[in-house]
Amino acid sequence: MSKHYDLIAIGAGSGGLSVAERAARYGAKCAVIEKGRLGGTCVNVGCVPKKVMWFGAGIAHTLKDATDYGFQVGETRFDWAALKASRDAYVKGINDWYHTYLSDSNIDEIAGTARFVDARTLDVDGQRYTADHIVIAPGGAPLVPDTPGAELGITSDGFFELEQLPPRVAVVGSGYIAVELAGLFNALGSDVTMLLRREHLLRSFDAMLRENLTEEMFGDGIDILARTQVKQITREPDGTLCIECENGQRLEGFDELIWAIGRYPLTQDLNLEAAGVAMDEEGYIPVDKFQETGVEGIYAIGDVTGCAQLTPVAIAAGRRLSDRLFGGMKGRHLPYENIATVVFSHPPIGTVGLTESIARDLHGESVKVYQTRFTAMYNALTERKQKTAMKLVTVGAQEKVVGCHIIGPGADEMLQGFAVAIRMGATKKDLDDTVAIHPTSSEELVTMR
Ligand SMILES: Cc1cc2nc3c(=O)[nH]c(=O)nc-3n(C[C@H](O)[C@H](O)[C@H](O)COP(=O)(O)OP(=O)(O)OC[C@H]3O[C@@H](n4cnc5c(N)ncnc54)[C@H](O)[C@@H]3O)c2cc1C
Repeated sequence: MSKHYDLIAIGAGSGGLSVAERAARYGAKCAVIEKGRLGGTCVNVGCVPKKVMWFGAGIAHTLKDATDYGFQVGETRFDWAALKASRDAYVKGINDWYHTYLSDSNIDEIAGTARFVDARTLDVDGQRYTADHIVIAPGGAPLVPDTPGAELGITSDGFFELEQLPPRVAVVGSGYIAVELAGLFNALGSDVTMLLRREHLLRSFDAMLRENLTEEMFGDGIDILARTQVKQITREPDGTLCIECENGQRLEGFDELIWAIGRYPLTQDLNLEAAGVAMDEEGYIPVDKFQETGVEGIYAIGDVTGCAQLTPVAIAAGRRLSDRLFGGMKGRHLPYENIATVVFSHPPIGTVGLTESIARDLHGESVKVYQTRFTAMYNALTERKQKTAMKLVTVGAQEKVVGCHIIGPGADEMLQGFAVAIRMGATKKDLDDTVAIHPTSSEELVTMR
């Protein structure tokens, strides 16, 4: 006998939990199927534990600056295992909270791996469930290349299992996860080398951001090797890893190698063919603006769609889908433009809207850019100088702001309000007419010439 629901979400991560939670609030009978831990990538091996580590890394930086502010700090010692234990306990608390929350919300929690039997039926380890609406939200997993010796490295998932700080680390990759992990290791005391297949870090970001970040990372002592492709990894007799590169370089003495080269969607085990749901060649599920897969009653949200792979995006897509299906909000959907995001680098980056180069491709001569670069007041007194840089990209005679890019201390918390303004269509004049908050770095965004 199968059990029937109004809505079943495959995956209890950011997307699956949100779509079920909102649907249940409208009175729908819902279940979430989860093969791992509640909360998915974000809670267990993503945003949450990463941000805890970023706070820890920030304290390491502050300790370095402390003497410049008159503190005699003396010798300090960092205990990775202690931070990991506190972090794991925090994450476990969130997992536990979700169990209670689901039962309080009247959402059934089904533990196991979901597989389609047909377009209305799922099999979970031998038990059948049917639903009028099935939402596919299985997220993704880190890629490991088929390079010889690749199994000697770990991924971001393995990063969160490390029991001690590795003295020497190689981070392979150039995206935001690579940058964030390299920055954490460096601040906490590892000797870090980054290996980039191509020329730049954060290739899809505004050039100003990546240039400033590269300079800061170099300044912090991170070795960044561009155009360096890994050919083979071997373990040396002393237990360390040796990396042979395609360009003939041989890099020795690493305690860990982290693959941060991208992620793939977890669609292989879903038996999507049985439901008639199509995938693209990388395994992502294409959807229309209503998150519809093309098979009636089957939707996909979150990382599995390959669009803007961020937690708040998966949450927003899930909630809006339920608003439409059960809340009577016809036409409700998530537009994917102007989604703000932060890179928790050192210093952090906040970015929303078009990069200067994309704006110029789209709008040509009508683009006008305002930018500034300065030393924030905090760093005026510190020996360790960090630069803050900001860019506003505007379009047309009205100078509508279509991009805002910030790197510097506080950029992570600065951006959200500006993202609201940009979403509402703010012009440069609107920013100029806003009275500044002094003394802050963010006031530069409303006083730029
Ligand atoms: C290291 C790292 C740092 C990140 N930092 C940030 C950040 O700072 N900010 C941000 O916004 N985003 C960040 N992200 C991205 C964010 O975690 C994802 O965008 C988000 O978790 C996607 O949500 P989702 O619901 O699509 O998938 P997930 O959260 O991955 O959830 C999918 C769930 O489905 C389960 N599942 C998969 N297949 C099946 C199946 N067949 N049956 C049952 N269950 C299944 C999985 O076990 C998983 O729990 C980070 C990601 C990583 C890896």
